[in-house]
Order: sequence, then structure tokens, then C-alpha cells
Amino acid sequence: MRIFVLLMTTLWALTACAQPPKTTRTPMTPVKKTEEEWKKTLTADQYRVLREKGTEAPWSGKFNKHKEDGTFTCAACGAELFTSKQKFDSGCGWPSFDAAIDNKRILTAKDYDLGYARTEIMCANCGGHLGHVFDDGPTETGLRYCVNSVSIDFKKVGVKPVTAAH
Ligand SMILES: [Zn+2]
Repeated sequence: MRIFVLLMTTLWALTACAQPPKTTRTPMTPVKKTEEEWKKTLTADQYRVLREKGTEAPWSGKFNKHKEDGTFTCAACGAELFTSKQKFDSGCGWPSFDAAIDNKRILTAKDYDLGYARTEIMCANCGGHLGHVFDDGPTETGLRYCVNSVSIDFKKVGVKPVTAAH
């Protein structure tokens, strides 16, 4: 009997482990702030998009038609995410990029908010919501990173080296 109970307990534990983990879509990232802290540092629009995974209206963003040379950074933490060379005019109403500076700087998660699967993109440094990535890009990467303007900032300088020289 004792073995049976042990066996059942083990089976239960295994079954419990087999449950898929709850997807929080709020990843653990190097930059950790409470929602109160984010509310103090972000504008209301930035907070709604970056922290609450909102979407700005198409054609409304300041970087949609932006064509200057430079680097796009996370509006929440300043991490360099995209360059102007990776930007292209997708016609979708949001700034679009065919690649990121480094894939390690972008986190992805499955998003079913609209009833079908999309791939959400987030800043890997702070977890801020950027937008979505689609596999219908027109360049050789085949990717279209569709990013909210309020999620990013721009600076007219090149990308800093990923690893600092010692
Ligand atoms: Zn960030």
C-alpha cells in the first residue's frame, strides 16, 4: 500500500510538472523596476505601450517616416536595438526593420491577443514591449520588425561596440 501511495504521489508530481508553465509574457530582464517606478519615468503613452503592451495608432508615430542615419534605442532603458540601415518603408504605418542590431537584444513571445498567433518583441534589457515581428519582410532576412514609435528613441550616432575593449 505504501508503495502504491508513493507511486501515485510520484505520478501526480510528474503530471504536475508536465503542465505547461503559465506564460506571463513579462520576462526576467537585467533592468528591474516596479510598475510604479516605470510610471514615473515613462510618459503615459510610453507606459501604455511599453509596459501594458499597447499599440499606437498606425501612421501616428514620429519614426514611421523617419529617414535619418543613426541608431534606434529602447525608449525605456536606452538599449541600442535597431539601426537606420535596418529600417525600411513597409507601408504598414509603423516603423519597420528587417533585422535587429543583435538578436540577443530582442526577446520574443507568442501573443494570441487578437485570436491568432503573433510573435511579440520585447527589449531584452528591460522587457519593454516594442511591437511584433512577422515573417513577410521584403528583404533577404524575410523579417519585418514592426515597432511602435513610442517604444523607441533615436540618436544620430552609430552603434557602440557590443563588447567594450579592455
Ligand atoms: Zn529596454
